[in-house]
Amino acid sequence: MPLVPCRACGQQVDTSAEACPGCGATNPGHKMSRQQRDLIVTVVQVVVATIILFVAGNMAWNAVGPVVKQQMNKPAP
Ligand SMILES: [Zn+2]
Repeated sequence: MPLVPCRACGQQVDTSAEACPGCGATNPGHKMSRQQRDLIVTVVQVVVATIILFVAGNMAWNAVGPVVKQQMNKPAP
């Protein structure tokens, strides 16, 4: 198993270690904690969902928009 410096204290720890034997930090062999990784995954998902909604909304507006504008520009009877 490869050894890497603990992200908190710098002591050499196994990459598979769940806690640093020196300082007790969780996942010492990983650049970021599991919570941070989960947070990044969540943020990416929200951003991707926003982009998809924006693109889909834009496409829907391009399809429906001209009809709506036409209806709105019609003089009242
Ligand atoms: Zn440590």
